[in-house]
Amino acid sequence: MPELFIDGTWRAALAGGTRDVVNPYDGRVLRTVDEAAEADAEAAVLAARRCFDAGTWPATPVAERAALLARTADLLQRDREEIARTETQDTGKTLPESRVDVDDVTAVFRYYAEQVLVDLDRTVDVGRDDVVSKVVHQPVGVCSLIAPWNYPLLQMCWKVAPALAAGNTVVLKPSEVTPLSTVHLVRLLAEAGYPAGSVNLLLGGGGAVGPVLTGHPAVDLVSFTGGLDTGRAIIRTAAETVKRTTVELGGKNPQVVFADVDLDTAVDVVLTGVFLHAGQVCSAGTRLIVEDSIADALVAGVAERAGRIRLGNGFDEGVESGPLVSAEHRDKVEAYVALGLSEGARLVTGGKRPDGDDLQRGFFYSPTVLDSCDRSMRIVQEETFGPILTVERFTTEAEAVELANDTAYGLAGGVQTADVERGERVAAAMRHGTVWINDFGPYVPQAEWGGMGMSGNGRELGPAGLHEYLETKHVWRSTRPGPVGQFTG
Ligand code: NAD
Repeated sequence: MPELFIDGTWRAALAGGTRDVVNPYDGRVLRTVDEAAEADAEAAVLAARRCFDAGTWPATPVAERAALLARTADLLQRDREEIARTETQDTGKTLPESRVDVDDVTAVFRYYAEQVLVDLDRTVDVGRDDVVSKVVHQPVGVCSLIAPWNYPLLQMCWKVAPALAAGNTVVLKPSEVTPLSTVHLVRLLAEAGYPAGSVNLLLGGGGAVGPVLTGHPAVDLVSFTGGLDTGRAIIRTAAETVKRTTVELGGKNPQVVFADVDLDTAVDVVLTGVFLHAGQVCSAGTRLIVEDSIADALVAGVAERAGRIRLGNGFDEGVESGPLVSAEHRDKVEAYVALGLSEGARLVTGGKRPDGDDLQRGFFYSPTVLDSCDRSMRIVQEETFGPILTVERFTTEAEAVELANDTAYGLAGGVQTADVERGERVAAAMRHGTVWINDFGPYVPQAEWGGMGMSGNGRELGPAGLHEYLETKHVWRSTRPGPVGQFTG
């Protein structure tokens, strides 16, 4: 069955292009999928435009739209295991992690099925009895939704659910590296019964279809999650037609640890914060900023446990982390470790490809800890998107905050301390879109997600995640029309 979905029909790419999708665990081709080109993108955008302008989806009563979202959530749960297995094959992440992702996006669809029923419209008292003034909300229009490879299903659903809930029509473009779970998602959306043209799917690299998705005059909004350089390019293209843009970009996220913590707990939080999914997490806590008096003990504890993380096939019981997503990405991670060492960092653990026969075909890299780092180093400032923890030390709270905020990014950060007031104080001072106190990583559909600084603009999840997909309109009605009296001639 072909994998492009345009105007309610599954079809192959017009030019016949295809691309191999590879399992990062063993380098084998999982499936060869259709690869869209410019003409397919144009067709998808125009299908979404027609559907929006005809009102088929935007004019569907909100309660019906909400019911379809809830139905989508049910279908996601029905196919939970199959989708999770697809995600593990495609990304290399462990099966339990993939199941969490399916449950997360199910919750997101359910959340927006409810949230969209909250009436945001309001009347405004303009101080006159001959005027009715209302502020109403309407869908923005055609939305291009572009997602990365690290959380393919999750990042896409954080966009699709609110966009459709609000009554927009959408063109989905998952990463060419990991498109398979999104194909499954779109099959479920088609099964649920969203009208033809409301949901369209393009597969392929950003180079061919990106300019259409982000520059075509028929597109009203671009929501992008991915790397900083791509985000900048998209903002530039979208600026030509002044599209609304939401960009969720990278992060270089600090984990601040004060000396009053329970050491074992702190080690565990730091370890999970940085090495989950082999560090391929936008909010990975890759930058440890630790109070000097416990630094040696904490680093030793993290390094010892990092060395024991069980790497392997995400399907195997007991495996705790999979490979990096591709050979190219591992090359990049290796280059960053080499850079860090050349900048003066000290290797504590990792820094190489792991041993073990079963790990040689895939793109594995050992969890790595680099001590003796400082903020002037590129390894401390640039996103590596791999299993690399850098260590910096501080002696005062002010210094800790200064270090944590010394980043061009601002996606997420954490602070661990037994002092509740200090935890709140430091969290308040941190210029990051999400801050965890004595934890690192959790998120919920009800709470906004997004970055400050170069981590992006706009928010996903929560009420703001829906507002991104709504226009706000003021309607003024004169109930006793008559001459204005401004011009009398
Ligand atoms: P990427 O920027 O290479 O690609 C992301 C998507 O953009 C892909 O679908 C790609 O095909 C597409 N694309 C590429 N060029 C394009 C163009 N010119 N026009 C339109 N689309 C184009 O990112 P990636 O390597 O897939 O993902 C990793 C990055 O994503 C990391 O930087 C990570 O921090 C970031 N990320 C951020 C968040 C967040 O919430 N802030 C979440 C997950 C990942």
